[in-house]
Amino acid sequence: MSEEVCYVCKKPFEDDEDPIEIMKGKYLVHEDCFVCAECGEPLEKYFMKDKKLMCKSCACPKCKVCGEAIEGKIIRVEEDRYHPDCFKCPECGTVIGTNDYKIRDGKVLCMACADKQ
Ligand SMILES: [Zn+2]
Ligand SMILES: [Zn+2]
Ligand SMILES: [Zn+2]
Ligand SMILES: [Zn+2]
Repeated sequence: MSEEVCYVCKKPFEDDEDPIEIMKGKYLVHEDCFVCAECGEPLEKYFMKDKKLMCKSCACPKCKVCGEAIEGKIIRVEEDRYHPDCFKCPECGTVIGTNDYKIRDGKVLCMACADKQ
């Protein structure tokens, strides 16, 4: 244990310290160092991004519609990111999800609406 250093600050642990294991125990982190590298919030669930520990909202892209972090399946349309459930046709409100879409006049339309016009 004495040879181990904290993944974040690279300092060793005190004898009476109980480090937090990350990456299936591959690395150890001080309790005080187990915070988001971006926003400094204490972490519950951590995400690894660019070899830094981050919270969900800093590590995950944000949905253009609801503004929440997207974990799991991401719908990408050019520079925008959506939850599959938030990715809806503005004309008819149908959830497009992973189905095909067409972009017309800057709007992302479902195939039915795109064909109608
Ligand atoms: Zn540390
Ligand atoms: Zn954060
Ligand atoms: Zn969303
Ligand atoms: Zn539609």
